Amino acid sequence: MIMLDRNFSFGVHNRKSFLEYVEAVAEDTTKKYCILAVDIEYFKFFNKWFGMSAGDEYLQELADYLTAMERAHDGYAAYFGGDNFALCVPYDMELIHSISEHLNGIALAKADSVAFLPAIGVYVIEGNDIPAITMYDNAIEATFYVYGNYEKRVMVYDAGMTCKVEEELQIISKVKEGLRLHQFTFYLQPKCRISTGKVVGAEALVRWNHPVRGLVSPSAFIPILEKNGLIGQVDRYIWEEVCKTIRGWLDKNITPVPISINISRMDILSMDVPRILDELLKKYALDKKYLKVEITESVYTEQVEKIIATIDKLHEEGYTVLMDDFGSGYSSLNMLRNAIVDVLKLDMKFLNMSEQDSKKGIGILESVVNMSSTMEVPVVVEGVENPTQEDYLKAMGVRYAQGYYYYKPMAKEEFEKLLTDETRVDYRGIRNRHVEQLRVNELANPELFNDTLVNNILGPIAFYEVYGKEIRITRVNELYYEMAGAGGELTKECKRRFWDNVPEDDKDRVMETFEMAAKNTAKGARYEGEFVKVDGSRLWTHLKLFFLKEQAGHKLYLAVFTDYYDIEDKESRTYR
Ligand code: C2E
Ligand code: CA
Ligand code: CA
Repeated sequence: MIMLDRNFSFGVHNRKSFLEYVEAVAEDTTKKYCILAVDIEYFKFFNKWFGMSAGDEYLQELADYLTAMERAHDGYAAYFGGDNFALCVPYDMELIHSISEHLNGIALAKADSVAFLPAIGVYVIEGNDIPAITMYDNAIEATFYVYGNYEKRVMVYDAGMTCKVEEELQIISKVKEGLRLHQFTFYLQPKCRISTGKVVGAEALVRWNHPVRGLVSPSAFIPILEKNGLIGQVDRYIWEEVCKTIRGWLDKNITPVPISINISRMDILSMDVPRILDELLKKYALDKKYLKVEITESVYTEQVEKIIATIDKLHEEGYTVLMDDFGSGYSSLNMLRNAIVDVLKLDMKFLNMSEQDSKKGIGILESVVNMSSTMEVPVVVEGVENPTQEDYLKAMGVRYAQGYYYYKPMAKEEFEKLLTDETRVDYRGIRNRHVEQLRVNELANPELFNDTLVNNILGPIAFYEVYGKEIRITRVNELYYEMAGAGGELTKECKRRFWDNVPEDDKDRVMETFEMAAKNTAKGARYEGEFVKVDGSRLWTHLKLFFLKEQAGHKLYLAVFTDYYDIEDKESRTYR
């Protein structure tokens, strides 16, 4: 074993000796080894938030674990400077995944956030025809594909990756020039009222008029720009272009429909979005009703809080907020449950409608549509491509849609022509229909009731039967079990004892809430109070109670728990 400078190396080998080791392994045809490049995502911010010494401790723990792996698997661990480590071990995916999981555990214990998880890139050593350093670089390249993906923290390098990285680099290096030369523009895609096909609004979608590649669609560059913050510059540019365009129409006496702009999560983190929008509206003397914002909720906690705070602020200032890509798995939950979004956008493509699963997709769509009408949040379904899909939507009572079936995204000049054709425009906008009757049958369908998506969107739910003062829990979903601490199963006895969940002093208030819900069938009643878990400990819960119907002398109710947290520990309050 060659040992060189071990200073500042966290007790593992250094780069030079690692590369020598790899060359030796590559020559040994009896060995099938691989290189793991380990890089911590956002490590700079970890140091900033938690301090350098916490950062060093984190690195030290990683190093210790890698040393243990080196010993256990006849491998070699090294520090490459910054937050980069490398490990050379026998190529075995099971081993790699277990290493990744262990490293994730270290990260989560340090910061309780997926933001600082290590990314692992793997290069499988096959012979010695490329230098060891190139092998390591390839492993590093594979880590780029892990960034931002909090489900999958390991990527194995393949040769196609190199050109993709280069392409990314080209995009990044051309953005500023593109902005300066006005190569960026936007298309508008109408949103339609399904019953009439008329245009009630439109979404601005960025396009890059690239001198070499032609019109580039955002999926080719947005994700790249989101990774490095450049998206903010493009978005601000587009927002301003949109405002300019609306102002242009007004000056020409063309009445615009509201135009929604897309706000990236990165925008919210990197700038004061409400202030910037305000400045733009002032600059172009526009009323807020013309500009709406589409935001996708993010996966990780710190961001969710910041996003929620930003949405609250935008609300206070009178903007309409649309929650984009609802049902994509990332969006959802608290935003809808706490009704802080004004409109929900559901994308057909997240619903798996085409395959054998289509029944389930439709069921999910239906449950979401029902629930959103309960929550009084209107829905726009996007990605509608054919009349069959439209028929489904109509049957479900969805009233607004966006998709190729109606209009493809179009240049603003073309959209302007649409706007001047009165027969095709509807200025009533997107509104919620007053909910008279809850359609709860589909929701109670056992197949869908516990579907992950529905579960996550709705949170804990319970159905009650009420006879006078006697209240029985008749049905709950999985999240309710979880909340009640019933470990996945609520015994029959527990189910019947509704009042066991309610502290003595609150009983009257609970009864009043049931009465209020029965009086106000459309809106239901809100309740906030203590909930006694199966083990006797207490939660603070927020819920909405809805009266469903009366049958055979008893009343049926539905409770949707919008939030809950440990009473002793309000800090533990979760945004799920
Ligand atoms: P998104 O916000 O979900 O936008 C809807 C996307 O679906 C658009 O793709 C639109 O052209 C496409 N689409 C509309 N109808 C249909 C249909 O019937 N079938 C199918 N298959 N697709 C349909 P586009 O324009 O390529 O945009 C992709 C994504 O890029 C957008 O998804 C949005 O997340 C992002 N994006 C677009 N413009 C901007 C922008 O100005 N700023 C930011 N930050 N993101 C943007
Ligand atoms: Ca959008
Ligand atoms: Ca969308």
